[in-house]
Amino acid sequence: MMRLETELRQVKSIAIAGHVRPDGDCTGSCLAVYGYIREHFPDIEADVYLEVNNPAFGMLKWAEEIRTDYREERTYDLFLALDVSDKERLGEALKYFEAAGRTICIDHHITNKGFAEENLIEPEASSTSELVFGILEEDKISRETAEALYMGIVHDTGIFQYSNTTPRTMEVAGRLMAKGIAFSRIIDETFYQKTYIQNQVLGRTLMESILLLDGKIIMGRIRQKDMEFYGVGPKDLEGIVNQLRVTKGVEVAIFLHETGNQEYKVSLRSNGPVDVSKVCAYFGGGGHVKAAGCTMHGTLHDVVNNLTLHIEQQLLQEGPQ
Ligand code: 5GP
Ligand code: MN
Repeated sequence: MMRLETELRQVKSIAIAGHVRPDGDCTGSCLAVYGYIREHFPDIEADVYLEVNNPAFGMLKWAEEIRTDYREERTYDLFLALDVSDKERLGEALKYFEAAGRTICIDHHITNKGFAEENLIEPEASSTSELVFGILEEDKISRETAEALYMGIVHDTGIFQYSNTTPRTMEVAGRLMAKGIAFSRIIDETFYQKTYIQNQVLGRTLMESILLLDGKIIMGRIRQKDMEFYGVGPKDLEGIVNQLRVTKGVEVAIFLHETGNQEYKVSLRSNGPVDVSKVCAYFGGGGHVKAAGCTMHGTLHDVVNNLTLHIEQQLLQEGPQ
């Protein structure tokens, strides 16, 4: 069983990093480990790296200490990758990973093949935050660290709703709650709350969405020029695919966000039997059975056709319901 305290023996410097386009679980687990080390191992030089510092997570302690600048050349004794399913998803932090004395990865993605020297990968875990809870000394978890972990669990389970939620998830959440965390605020301010512009973009995407395959697939997309018009970035698009997903009759929701000329960031969500991690893994991405992503090239038409084909194949294998 992995214990953080054991892994930190003889470690004088540590880099903690999550995946590109950091989400709630990634940010929560990174800040929890960072805060725990700051509180209990003040002699260790700890840095936490994320691609962007999303203001939606700003209520967490230590959020302003997130580093988004990778220009400094550094060699850390230990590099800890959290919620990162493959090396490339480290983005610019990859150079610190490559240079580090030792590397550890803690993750719950089913597509993770274990790219670090030591790997704690449990696809059954709701979130990386749930796994991080398991490697810390419970009595040393402060309220602030508990808030970061709770946020991570809340985000990856859709507030304890998705099928990855287990009795263990609820038990961990309960123990975190016992630390006196501001659970209502965490859910409201980091999960539900949207800026006015984010809501406008959501509304526009829903309005322009289309149904495919007799309504079994819904597809929504946002163009680069729309994003420029509204002045939004990728972090403002979180939650859109989930709103598409809750359309009655839909098996799979597709959300496409144009990232370049004939380049799309793809988000898939499944309500039923379709394993979207398989679809995304085929196109070079990955994720979970019911939530996955990848990047695809080609015209909108090609991208949608390719995705639809793979989804339809899985639906056909299921046979008539
Ligand atoms: P989202 O659609 O919210 O971006 O991602 C859904 C899930 O799929 C997350 O767990 C995320 O880590 C994973 N994911 C998204 N995009 C990619 C990708 O390009 N490659 C891999 N390996 N995983 C991805
Ligand atoms: Mn996660």
